[in-house]
Amino acid sequence: MKTEGASDRDHMIRLLRRRGIRDERVIAAMDAIPREQFIPEAFRTDTYGDHPISIGFGQTISQPWMTAFMTQVLELRGSERVLEIGTGCGYHTAVLAQTAASVVTIEYIPELAAVAEENLRRLGLEKNVTFLSGDGSGGVPEHAPYDAILVAAGAPSTPQALLDQLDSDGRLVIPVGSLDDQELRLITRHGNAFQSETVSLCRFVPLRGSEGWDPS
Ligand code: SAH
Repeated sequence: MKTEGASDRDHMIRLLRRRGIRDERVIAAMDAIPREQFIPEAFRTDTYGDHPISIGFGQTISQPWMTAFMTQVLELRGSERVLEIGTGCGYHTAVLAQTAASVVTIEYIPELAAVAEENLRRLGLEKNVTFLSGDGSGGVPEHAPYDAILVAAGAPSTPQALLDQLDSDGRLVIPVGSLDDQELRLITRHGNAFQSETVSLCRFVPLRGSEGWDPS
């Protein structure tokens, strides 16, 4: 018997494969997690379409391809400690929790942080997740180092603090650019050397806070 959203999810998975998502662990996580349950009821139309959707408070849930692609470039194998900056409604947090060992996630808007935690708890996906609310633009040094850091909001530049909190061989994915358009950068640490490449173009909501667009 098909559960709610399952056939839409099949469609989403086919689309992700067609668009080049190859990491089977990412595919398995997105196939298993009921994405529609992370979207507030008022915005639940075409929840599996490949576009961002409003989640309230002026914020959005990323399009499925972007969630999959950002996770894929982190090359998670199941043993990693991950920091996610910008929890939003928690959908990407759930994907990370299923593909890595543990996740620390931080959200600027306290109401969204609470909703995200509730969403994961309802599905029993919260066990390896630490939920924080506040400005994560400078990372979360208390739990560092991380094998992977994912920033889900567009930054004016790459905060040095995030590079400092990466473990050796760690990977950081971050949208960097103007308020309207960014490049998605993948930065890999090798000892004290950092290699940066642009892996996509993108448009994210602005990163706020001390290392973001309103550093006051
Ligand atoms: N990860 C989400 C996308 C969330 S949108 C998904 O599942 O698709 C980006 C989120 O980043 C917003 O909720 C916004 O409030 C948050 N954000 C912006 N600046 C932040 C900051 N400095 N620290 C933590 N969260 C921040």
